[in-house]
Amino acid sequence: MFFKLKRIVKNGKVLKNESLKKHTSFKIGGKAKFFVEPADIAELIDLMEYLNAKNIKHYVLGNGTNVLVCDEGFNGVIVSTKQLNSVRLNSDYVQAFCGATLNEVCKFYSDHNMAGFEDAFGIPGSVGGAVRMNASAYQFEMGKMVAGVFALVNGKISYFTNEECKFKYRNSAFNNAIIISVDLIKTTMPCNHERMHYILNLRKTFQPLNMPSAGSVFKRNLGEPVSKIIDELGLKGFNVGGAKVSEKHAGFIVNCNNATAKDVKKLIEIIKKEVYLKHKIVLEEEIKFIEN
Ligand SMILES: Cc1cc2nc3c(=O)[nH]c(=O)nc-3n(C[C@H](O)[C@H](O)[C@H](O)COP(=O)(O)OP(=O)(O)OC[C@H]3O[C@@H](n4cnc5c(N)ncnc54)[C@H](O)[C@@H]3O)c2cc1C
Repeated sequence: MFFKLKRIVKNGKVLKNESLKKHTSFKIGGKAKFFVEPADIAELIDLMEYLNAKNIKHYVLGNGTNVLVCDEGFNGVIVSTKQLNSVRLNSDYVQAFCGATLNEVCKFYSDHNMAGFEDAFGIPGSVGGAVRMNASAYQFEMGKMVAGVFALVNGKISYFTNEECKFKYRNSAFNNAIIISVDLIKTTMPCNHERMHYILNLRKTFQPLNMPSAGSVFKRNLGEPVSKIIDELGLKGFNVGGAKVSEKHAGFIVNCNNATAKDVKKLIEIIKKEVYLKHKIVLEEEIKFIEN
């Protein structure tokens, strides 16, 4: 299969037995049997056609900042969007390709003196991941900046209007689709450059950015912030193996000492159990698990 993949992805990367630690912000997990990075959209489309036709298990990875890869790795093909990263100005929209980082988009808006992405500065994901997850922070919500999305659905390119994207909290219509590019709304208000730096400083102050993590582990709860609930249970600093509840932000689990996915999962179960016993709240994970 390696040579077949190489024939399809001629200019991109095809790697065998690639450690996924290198490709995720958690720096946890086993190897992917194949790790493929198409160099352009044509290669991505041909690759997906082949994988679908042969029924080969695959998983689309953006910047890997919201995933936990299991220790056994992934016995299929990881499709990385990293190289599909251009951002350009069209007459009607800003067109961002799936692998561009949200920070690149923030800088693009800032360079063109357009408001809209200030509060997203510092979210470490890709455009594809941010649309799929409907990433949000402070006053920013990805879905509010999207005019439409080109996505691959069952091998065919379709255009989704904002309404068809069905943006919800940490969810969208793209569970079984591959986001190719996104038309982002051009704004007329000037960019608030100071706000971008203010937001980045807030992140540095309140988030453990010096340690590997996948951001907030759990989805928001309707009542109090999840981090406050976990903090009040005295779980800050509590660890299982190399995985620890961050002392800086109790909603984050950090990889402080070669954590395994098993460590993280055990810690998640303990947190969920404690929160349920005390508050009768069932926490739901925000992070996605890459498993066989
Ligand atoms: C330090 C830190 C801070 C964070 N802060 C925030 C925050 O403030 N707000 C927030 O919302 N999130 C935050 N996150 C989480 C994460 O950055 C976002 O969820 C981000 O949008 C994920 O993008 P990604 O490219 O890393 O996605 P990945 O982790 O690669 O993937 C996440 C999901 O998206 C899917 N996906 C990725 N690309 C595509 C594509 N092209 N088409 C279809 N599906 C795709 C994957 O299959 C997977 O299901 C934070 C994470 C970290 C580590």
